[in-house]
Amino acid sequence: MKKNRINKLSFYESVISSGFDVRSGAFAVLNSNIQMCLNEYGEFESTALSESAFEDPMLREVSAMTSSVNEDDVASELFGAVAGIKYREVIGYYSGLYAGHVVEGDFRKNASSGGLTTWILKELFEKDLIDGVVHVKKTGQGSELLFEYGISNSVEEILASSKSRYYPAEFSKVITEVKSRQGRFAFVGIPSILFELRLLCRVDPEVNKKIKYMFGLICGHQKSTKYAESIGWQFGIAPGHLTDIDFRKKVPGLPASSYSTELTGLVNGVERTVSRFQDDIFVSNWGHGMFKTKFSDFTDDALNETADVSLGDAWLPEYVHDSGGNNVLIVRNPDIQRIIEEGVFNGQVNLDQISEQTVLDSQKGLINHTRNELPYRISKYDENGLWRPRKRVTADIEEITTHKRKVQDSRARIQELSSRAYKEAVFSGNWSQFEKIMVPEVEAYSRLYRKMRLKRSWANGPFWVIRKLGSKLSHKWQKWQKKA
Ligand SMILES: Cc1cc2nc3c(=O)[nH]c(=O)nc-3n(C[C@H](O)[C@H](O)[C@H](O)COP(=O)(O)OP(=O)(O)OC[C@H]3O[C@@H](n4cnc5c(N)ncnc54)[C@H](O)[C@@H]3O)c2cc1C
Repeated sequence: MKKNRINKLSFYESVISSGFDVRSGAFAVLNSNIQMCLNEYGEFESTALSESAFEDPMLREVSAMTSSVNEDDVASELFGAVAGIKYREVIGYYSGLYAGHVVEGDFRKNASSGGLTTWILKELFEKDLIDGVVHVKKTGQGSELLFEYGISNSVEEILASSKSRYYPAEFSKVITEVKSRQGRFAFVGIPSILFELRLLCRVDPEVNKKIKYMFGLICGHQKSTKYAESIGWQFGIAPGHLTDIDFRKKVPGLPASSYSTELTGLVNGVERTVSRFQDDIFVSNWGHGMFKTKFSDFTDDALNETADVSLGDAWLPEYVHDSGGNNVLIVRNPDIQRIIEEGVFNGQVNLDQISEQTVLDSQKGLINHTRNELPYRISKYDENGLWRPRKRVTADIEEITTHKRKVQDSRARIQELSSRAYKEAVFSGNWSQFEKIMVPEVEAYSRLYRKMRLKRSWANGPFWVIRKLGSKLSHKWQKWQKKA
């Protein structure tokens, strides 16, 4: 009975009002009666301009939550026939797996990680394979947003837009512009956003013709605009007064994972720039998931499987110590594979070929949460008789240990509470009100998480524990020296 009712839910009820929308902007490209608007929680919202807008049957086909094809189907169409291509679950198709960084020029210095995203984009442009890049850029003065999707039309512009933006971006305006322009474009996006552009390409021949390459960033989760805003506020830049943020500033001498965040904003009418380590930023622990957008917890695409190339950080002991930053790279497109091989041959990039297991190890935490713990998250919807998207993993409440379930429940509470508590704190103009509400939840999470790690440590044996403790202490000492 319950199942029948769920099956009859409209697109609006299942995807939009329940908050599962990826908020990519794909619906607005397809249907001019839908517009993307920023809501009070700093998330884009697909908004109908006419009553029947969400009744458009095509919308189901471009939503990552309802499409009749999944990432495997789309990836197999795109890459399945590439000569010599291999496949591994979670990684998806690949012709090459690498870790390393750019040697040429200042690409690495100016990037968030090893600089390969910007360097490959530059190579495509210089080799006349593209005429422009659609990626997330700084906005101009007067915008309520700090970053948005835009088009870079020259190598200089591509270079100027490097760096990771932990900030929401939707592509409706920019893809509509691409449709009306001549030329070939590369697109950069996080998993579900990129997948929805792939789905759009299947129903819109003009988009399909213009977007030649898709660059997939590996992504823990999408943040709302409040993530950046709250960091500013914690350090004295009131909401609405943050003018720039570099989420990842490399700190020479410290591991790549110990980056700082640089904020610029107006304090009492005077421009001020401050830099803070991750540990000092209240909202920065990605495990807590503050200001996480809901769709990120309902994708099983950990490594951006439908991208021509996926790029992330090499969070591996042999690379992470290097403050300059190193990428992991999953190559699927033959043109990009050639560019990489030429780059290695010419000494423009320094890359090691790595194994499937090394790629998986580089994203252990992300894969655990996104993929391995998803059966539990979706099973809770089934238990409560609620609609949820169909995934490549099967709902199973027993899939993870009781303790991990508690960690998942704690993350869900933090995610849900952070947006609400922050909104109330802004309303009352009091940052400490936000901290006061969140601290008990964060402490409860930390207790659960510590217990989970302790269990894992004992399972690995005493030598492993001693080695880990040693490296943690030396890391803390280095950081303390830098701060001093
Ligand atoms: C929200 C988010 C979460 C991430 N989480 C992880 C993670 O958990 N693990 C991991 O290994 N890597 C993660 N990454 C990727 C990582 O931060 C680097 O972006 C990636 O390693 C590429 O580094 P690079 O030096 O090659 O990029 P750069 O050379 O610095 O170039 C970055 C490119 O990405 C574009 N860009 C920046 N932000 C966005 C965005 N939000 N949407 C679309 N395009 C954008 C820029 O315009 C630029 O073209 C995340 C990225 C984002 C945006």
